[in-house]
Amino acid sequence: MTNYILRLDDACEKRKIESWNRIESILDKYKIRPLVGVIPNCEDPSMDDYEFDYDYENRLKSWVKKGWTIALHGYNHVYSTKSGGINPVNFRSEFAGEPLEVQKEKIREGLRILKGYGIKPKVFFAPSHTFDEKTLVALLEESDIRIISDTIAYDSYTNYGFTFVPQQTGKVRSLPFKKVTFCYHPNTMRDKDFEELEEFIFKNSKKFIDFPTNTVTRRFNLIDWILKKLYFLRRK
Ligand SMILES: [Zn+2]
Repeated sequence: MTNYILRLDDACEKRKIESWNRIESILDKYKIRPLVGVIPNCEDPSMDDYEFDYDYENRLKSWVKKGWTIALHGYNHVYSTKSGGINPVNFRSEFAGEPLEVQKEKIREGLRILKGYGIKPKVFFAPSHTFDEKTLVALLEESDIRIISDTIAYDSYTNYGFTFVPQQTGKVRSLPFKKVTFCYHPNTMRDKDFEELEEFIFKNSKKFIDFPTNTVTRRFNLIDWILKKLYFLRRK
């Protein structure tokens, strides 16, 4: 049986609060706890126009209390390179292609800000899914984070000293993987997206699991490799 994980990207002070509330009420209704990526110091100009949440700290804490898993989602969410790194689903990055010292500082500062909210994340995922080996070294040296949400695979696997929990699609659907992470951006979701998501959850609520924060020993194998090849072929 396939298990589903829901991931919500781009939580920060500035966001489309109405949409975040809408998805939260759907998830509460079906008792689904997502992985939510928090941007510690958002400077992404595309998010400038969203309203500022003056109650952000309490909202973050209420998510933690509900059992939502918090991930460090980059530092400022500003793309400074055109690199795809080791998960080239996009060719723009806050991390991939940046020097190690720059990446270390981003991780260090990001964690410092989240610590101010009483949050110590166990999971990392980069803006636009793009990171490189140096990002992993930076995480090893600056944090206790050993779990990454990203890359295409059949199931969670270990590599470079990290457990990778695969993240395959931005839309609910059946796929031939053991674990599927659906990645949603509440800020840009339309009515139709909310309706499709709720319909899928209604039919499949028992298959949804909390984000797994345990490390695994399974290695990336031939099945993962074939599925990854097919995924990138289809994208071309
Ligand atoms: Zn993002």
